[in-house]
Amino acid sequence: MEYEIVIGLEFHVQLSTLSKIFCECSTKFGAEPNTQVCPVCMGLPGVLPVLNKKVVNNAIISGLALNCEISRYCKFARKNYFYPDLPKNYQISQYEDPLARKGYLDIPANGSTKRIGITRAHMEEDAGKLIHPEGQPVSYVDFNRTGVPLLEIVTEPDIRSPEEAYSTAITLKGILEYLDVSDCNMEEGSLRCDANISIRPTGATELGVKTEVKNMNSFKAVQKALEYEAARQKKILTEGGVIVQETRLWDADRGVTRSMRSKEEAHDYRYFPEPDLIPLIISEEWIEEIRKNLPELPTQRRRRLQEEYGIPEYDAGVLTASRSVADFFELAARKYRDPKIVSNWVMVELQRYLNQEGIDIRQCRITPDKLVDLLKLIDNGVISGNIAKDVFSEMFRTGDTPASIIEAKGLVQVTDEAALVSIVDKVVAENPGPVADFLGGNERTFGFLMGQAMKVSKGKANPKILTKLLRERLKKT
Ligand code: ADP
Ligand code: ZN
Ligand code: MG
Repeated sequence: MEYEIVIGLEFHVQLSTLSKIFCECSTKFGAEPNTQVCPVCMGLPGVLPVLNKKVVNNAIISGLALNCEISRYCKFARKNYFYPDLPKNYQISQYEDPLARKGYLDIPANGSTKRIGITRAHMEEDAGKLIHPEGQPVSYVDFNRTGVPLLEIVTEPDIRSPEEAYSTAITLKGILEYLDVSDCNMEEGSLRCDANISIRPTGATELGVKTEVKNMNSFKAVQKALEYEAARQKKILTEGGVIVQETRLWDADRGVTRSMRSKEEAHDYRYFPEPDLIPLIISEEWIEEIRKNLPELPTQRRRRLQEEYGIPEYDAGVLTASRSVADFFELAARKYRDPKIVSNWVMVELQRYLNQEGIDIRQCRITPDKLVDLLKLIDNGVISGNIAKDVFSEMFRTGDTPASIIEAKGLVQVTDEAALVSIVDKVVAENPGPVADFLGGNERTFGFLMGQAMKVSKGKANPKILTKLLRERLKKT
């Protein structure tokens, strides 16, 4: 039997605000544990939450960018559960009247685009963080994160493969980054994703029993966990078994998911309206004001980059996948004669080093201006394209300017004909066989001789002049 995969994703996005959602405590990451807390976010008796307007603003921006309907009237609800990281024993969330619903997101899939429904997006507060130091019989709790504003975004079960799930996550991250509503830093937990997956016989209309997979710390991990889970479910059904509805944890080290709790053990959250907050009424004017000022989104920017800089659709797609990469490209492309060359360097060389180091382009020591300087040095014949790659590598490591690296390493391209002629003489004298071969009519041997000459010059010869001199020398032979 053929099976079809069905996936729905749930994202938790930390909205960037200076203070928490219901109190004045700072949201800054990395502070000493329990230094950014107050009676409100600690849930002490007798205190009242006050809603942070910036959170609502950022949530509306996100909802509109995801093509959602924004509720003019929405409410907060208490989601009750007991856990040491939750000082109030409930989380203020939204249940029946979420801020946004019925939206969609267009993702790239199989060379075209596919529309993924957004069920809802709602505001809520984050919980604290438990720390279990190894080898000690204690656990610590850090409440700095309690009350940090989150937007939970839930998709429809429209996703049909782990690759599409990856694509959905990347596209959503791109949009949120562009909106500047979250820093989307997965390492710091400002963007998290849980995945729901089931399978069903191809052509069936009813959904199969799903499992929910948690604990993935990257979108690649989401994809891998879903691949594992789809295969696990298929095997069970093929062998005549049944899928148990449960929550499973991804174990990245072993590359497997394992059961965390079944449906029977699932929490009953006993949602009820939050009595300490009045319903939130959002005016039409506010929504329209935000809609008018929505920034350029990845799809629009992709089109603009193609038109404005004349780069191919593929390049525009790669560059705009991240706002900061597109910013870098534009800053450099505006100052250089050929945007396509800038695009190549950003997509290939720069991206390779960023991936190697696992860092974001914003942390990169090469600035757009320094890249432009490097490209101009190639144009002016100071260095060859190949040497430029070595210089680039050094720029990436040290952040130095290309000129200072070229100077320090003596990499200036040799254009002096006298120096190059002596190299040509040497290569011709040392390679009588290939020279005879070339003179016998084998043009391809020329490439070999050029390679030898380049090697002797340690890659520093100006290739154009060297080619010219070598041809002249061989003609005379
Ligand atoms: P729960 O009550 O377990 O939280 P929801 O109905 O709220 O489940 O859905 C949570 C997520 O799971 C959504 O993204 C939804 O699209 C997805 N989902 C729901 N049912 C299925 C299913 N049978 N297979 C795959 N995904 C599903
Ligand atoms: Zn507080
Ligand atoms: Mg749910």
